[in-house]
Amino acid sequence: MYRTSFSTFRIAPSYAGGFYYSWEISGGFNDPAPWEFVVQRGPTNNGPWEDISPKLVNVIAWKDEGGKNLGGKSNTLYFRVVLKTSKGVYASHVMQPYGDIGRREFLLAREIIRRETLRARVLSGVECDVYIRSTFGPKCTHCLDPVTGEVRDSHCKYCFGTGRYPAYYGPHRMMLSFSVDSAHHKTNSNDGTHETRIFEALAIGNPVLKHGDVIIDIRQDKRYVIGTAAITSEVRRIPCLQNLAFEEAPVSDSVYKIGIPMDEDEDGCEDCEDCGDCEECDE
Ligand SMILES: [Zn+2]
Repeated sequence: MYRTSFSTFRIAPSYAGGFYYSWEISGGFNDPAPWEFVVQRGPTNNGPWEDISPKLVNVIAWKDEGGKNLGGKSNTLYFRVVLKTSKGVYASHVMQPYGDIGRREFLLAREIIRRETLRARVLSGVECDVYIRSTFGPKCTHCLDPVTGEVRDSHCKYCFGTGRYPAYYGPHRMMLSFSVDSAHHKTNSNDGTHETRIFEALAIGNPVLKHGDVIIDIRQDKRYVIGTAAITSEVRRIPCLQNLAFEEAPVSDSVYKIGIPMDEDEDGCEDCEDCGDCEECDE
């Protein structure tokens, strides 16, 4: 049994004066889906705790833009995230926004994030939804080898080859400033030479992105897969800006299925242990 299922809980500034909360769960924690998160606030380290976010499912970050949780100079606030599953209730460690780094650094980080957000809004910012590829979460019950735990189907429609369900956490709304330069990258394979265009963009540091995460340009429904992501500005341990390099996914790519509910008639539904009338239950 894990002392706490949370491996990370971070509080960063958000543009409009509120906070950006993000968290991760230990890779070995395997309670069944769904996982439901809620961000809580309390006047002391020990509560009493009050929910400040709605119930959050399939996301691992929440932005509180109102600024009402900032508190005055004398008003100290404590935060934590709680995970509820069918098996139990688990809490993150307790955080004070200014506790680890001090108010001055926190406000400096906020200023960097605010400036970039404004610049993106005025100039070339593109509103995107980002999906974070799962490295933790409930194990896929459809394709994992029960003995070795290995993914047996890299095209599994439940876990997309991640071995986890959901395969991606999101959507997390984000503004990206695309660079005007894009490089072309040539790859050779059996059926000839392919040229892919590598895009670059600057974004604020939350959520922190990585290789394999997916960016959706929501106006055009273009989908991109991140090759590299690098933090380019941070204040103490708060990531402020990140630089992303990514390429557009072909429309045949499975990333176009992210965020679209599965067709339950196809073969099996999401809760097929209980439904009794899908193909998986007949087996
Ligand atoms: Zn799977």
